[in-house]
Amino acid sequence: MAQQKKVAFTIDDVPNFREYKKAGNNSVLLEKIKQANIPVTIFINEINLTRFKDGEGVQLLEQWLKDKNIDPGNHGYAHQRYVGQGFEAYKNEVVQGEVQTNILLKEGGKTLDYFRFPYNCLGEDSTAQHKIRNYLKSQGYAIAPFTIESSDYIYNKLYLQAVAAGNTAEAELRITQYLELTKNLLLFYEGLYTNQPPLDHIYLFHDNALNAACFDQLLLVFKEMGYAFVTMEEAMQNPYYDQDNYYHGPHGFSWIYRWIPEDEKRNAIMKREPWVGKKLYSLYLK
Ligand SMILES: [Zn+2]
Repeated sequence: MAQQKKVAFTIDDVPNFREYKKAGNNSVLLEKIKQANIPVTIFINEINLTRFKDGEGVQLLEQWLKDKNIDPGNHGYAHQRYVGQGFEAYKNEVVQGEVQTNILLKEGGKTLDYFRFPYNCLGEDSTAQHKIRNYLKSQGYAIAPFTIESSDYIYNKLYLQAVAAGNTAEAELRITQYLELTKNLLLFYEGLYTNQPPLDHIYLFHDNALNAACFDQLLLVFKEMGYAFVTMEEAMQNPYYDQDNYYHGPHGFSWIYRWIPEDEKRNAIMKREPWVGKKLYSLYLK
């Protein structure tokens, strides 16, 4: 019998100040996650806390962290790209990025085990990557990979524009397109991993208005394709995550491509990957 397919949900750029304010001091995404009762790992940018007044940001982060299903991750203090910062400066991004989280975690029994690089930029070359990897390890961190993301930041921008213009039909269309791409990417990757066991996915998305609006539908996409929701830790026990990362450049693509040793083969597969398309991408750049 075929093994159960699994996915771990991971949410970047937590917490989102603007959406919290817009919803009348409430995180709609967090509420929906609680209702869904599935595990997620959140990647925190502590700089976001400074946008709130009177400790409100810390309280919001506390709400996220006290949910039993939510695991914490460090996403760098100020969401800086490692390339351009240099190794010495980047160490501060890591250390500064965990201060408030560690205070909140003190009594909860959870630990900060993962660092996810902003833009998934692991460094400009193998030397830079090696240095930061060793540093993170010395600080108790593993690098958080992802296998699938479906350009939610692009759809989010277009969704927010449609909402602001009062165009409900267009806002709905952006949600439909986002969910469609997610499904098509899952099918595409399943086509690459046809052997047993199946690849356990780590899905990367953001704390934004789009995902708050369509979280239940997003869950359904994965459910209907036969996926069970697991923690990132469990997903990473899947043997594929033991593969080496052969890519030593600055780009932020999926670990599925980093596990391919040959550049040519990697590029050929990447070219076939479903994406948002020229039309939406140019709207996004406007
Ligand atoms: Zn990010």
